[in-house]
Amino acid sequence: MTRPLDPSTLPRAVVTGGAGFVGSGVCDRLLADGWRVLAVDNLCTGRRTNVAHLVGDPRFELRVSDVCDPLDVDGPVAAVLQLASPASPFDYLALPIETLRSGAQGTFNALELAKAKGATFLLASTSEIYGDPLQHPQREDYLGNVSCTGPRSVYDEAKRYAEAATMACHRTWGVDTRIIRIFNTYGPRMKPRDGRVVTAFVVQALLGEPLTVFGDGRQTRSFCYVDDLVDGIVRVLARGDHLPYNLGNPSEFTIAELVAEVERLLGPQRVTYLPLPQDDPTRRCPDIGRARTHLGWEPRVALPEGLVRTIEGLRQTLTANP
Ligand code: NAD
Ligand code: UDP
Repeated sequence: MTRPLDPSTLPRAVVTGGAGFVGSGVCDRLLADGWRVLAVDNLCTGRRTNVAHLVGDPRFELRVSDVCDPLDVDGPVAAVLQLASPASPFDYLALPIETLRSGAQGTFNALELAKAKGATFLLASTSEIYGDPLQHPQREDYLGNVSCTGPRSVYDEAKRYAEAATMACHRTWGVDTRIIRIFNTYGPRMKPRDGRVVTAFVVQALLGEPLTVFGDGRQTRSFCYVDDLVDGIVRVLARGDHLPYNLGNPSEFTIAELVAEVERLLGPQRVTYLPLPQDDPTRRCPDIGRARTHLGWEPRVALPEGLVRTIEGLRQTLTANP
């Protein structure tokens, strides 16, 4: 007869931002892979509902706390994943100081925890560190075209600083570090009014509102389904090296093409054209050669399929909270 596993013998991960859209998916995956998880989240943009299904699991704990405060964690920790940061432009423009602090002090606190515990550290960085890129598609060795004073700089520069801090702690303290640069990721657990374009269009279409296209809709993004991203994150954590990995879906779409895709699934829509936000990148597409070669990773869920799953999830959210 096999005895039930004692959860305290499992490796433990600290996931900052664990009640967020991506972070909660990472918690799910780590638990499924046999980890214990401490999620640290101040709920500034995340939601308890994202991890409600995990409450009561003895392997999971949610600590409502700011990553900018010292991270006191008892006992062993094998991995620290720093995902705590507002991520939607709508959110980080509303929380500019908090965003800078999460990227700077929050990242240092998470790095210090990893150093103290001898844990592997993973930073969730972003394609935004490339700014409005002049190289296409973007490879990890591209240095970027970023405004350091514009409104988006609170996010872009916080993440650039966080990458610099991660590399410095790797070189100086010998912390085993990972950096991932996430490109636009979407999925059913996003907040309906998150403001990012996929959720914005799906929710607007479901509620019969006009779709809000910023600019002329010719700017491009490359949309990755969340399960693919989470799979990339665990691969980088397990087998990556300390240099950055782009994680995103290399299929590139104009925003006008995204409107067409939503119309194909949800019928004809009215469209309202609004001014393009300042410093909105014109094109964005990852070169994922490094993740493909080192980790055998590539996205599997194409936009039409990911959109169907996202529409279903957001429909349920809107029904539960009209
Ligand atoms: P999200 O807003 O859903 O999740 C961020 C989480 O971090 C939230 O739960 C929020 O409450 C928490 N948080 C923010 N500041 C905090 C603080 N100071 N202390 C504790 N918790 C804090 O956004 P997301 O899309 O899930 O993003 C997760 C991470 O991935 C972020 O670091 C983001 O920069 C990065 N990222 C995401 C995308 C994407 O397309 N989803 C793209 C690039 C980078
Ligand atoms: N966008 C849009 N309508 C919206 C929200 C966003 O046209 O309601 C555009 C935005 O200007 C950008 C792209 O969609 O060009 C992606 O925006 P998002 O906020 O999802 O993420 P970003 O890539 O800018 O961080």
